[in-house]
Amino acid sequence: MTEVLLEVNHLKKYFPITGGLFGKHVGDVKAVDNVSFHVNKGETLGLVGESGCGKSTTGRMLMRLIEPTEGEILFEGKDITRLNEREMRKMRKEMQMVFQDPFASLNPRHTVEKILEEPLIVHGVSDKEERRRLVKEMMEVVGLSSYHIKRYPHQFSGGQRQRIGIARALMTKPKLIIADEPVSALDVSIQSQVLNLLEDLQKDFQLTYIFIAHDLGVVKHISDRVGVMYLGRLVEITEAEKLYDKPLHPYTKALLSAVPIPDPDLKHEREILTGDLPSPANPPLGCAFHTRCKECMEICKIQRPELQEIEPGHYAACHLYRKDESL
Ligand code: SF4
Repeated sequence: MTEVLLEVNHLKKYFPITGGLFGKHVGDVKAVDNVSFHVNKGETLGLVGESGCGKSTTGRMLMRLIEPTEGEILFEGKDITRLNEREMRKMRKEMQMVFQDPFASLNPRHTVEKILEEPLIVHGVSDKEERRRLVKEMMEVVGLSSYHIKRYPHQFSGGQRQRIGIARALMTKPKLIIADEPVSALDVSIQSQVLNLLEDLQKDFQLTYIFIAHDLGVVKHISDRVGVMYLGRLVEITEAEKLYDKPLHPYTKALLSAVPIPDPDLKHEREILTGDLPSPANPPLGCAFHTRCKECMEICKIQRPELQEIEPGHYAACHLYRKDESL
């Protein structure tokens, strides 16, 4: 039976814009604007969109590294937006993050041992020998030699550093991992090794993933479902297979046509995305994608389409599929 691990309802993050002599509130950057989705236990949800679409802000809000402006984040039914700092620290044992740039997220002055034992100290493993044993064990689990426990981050390659980042996230045996562009900074040859490792760990530790990426190609093999974001909103979400085989939203179609196809005999029409991403401080009226959409209609310029279930389990926010013809 599918069980929901995380449910996000109407999540918003508005960054205020101030101006004038007295720093008056003159508007908001709507980085995340009314986003709702859920993640089932053991599944991987990919969150995809161009930079500035709000996917990383969403990921950070789920960990409360950024405070939401509004909305609910239910982890195993409990709204974590209401937890105080101490309760939230405890909750972080269950949910951890893997960052894009392992070099920036690992303290260069700390050995691997110190980096990996820190989460154990925070969560009350007081015995030094026990911590060392757990650190060595985890290094081997992620494919690093425990012989290198006294090494510093700069003594490892990029791929190995990301393995350290993954090991650190796993130290507290979390249920949910939010991976924010975990392979984007790595060479293509190393990317697949890290993706394979993440897949193996998911099976071994019964993990649930939210996998954030700017490229639909990267999340294709690892995701069970994929959500596509544009200017702070979810514009399409469904099972990965459906999204890749039959995308509905014109933005998803454009993103997909940028994904290279390995077989040269298989060709697809390239839909080059034209125009710049509008500013989230001043998003276009109506459908936020209308300034770049080839299928834009008059209604798109005045009315914002809501996310609707177009086919069973397949949601999209686009007037091309609107059900209420009176609109
Ligand atoms: Fe394009 Fe209109 Fe659909 Fe927006 S609502 S994606 S502008 S067709």
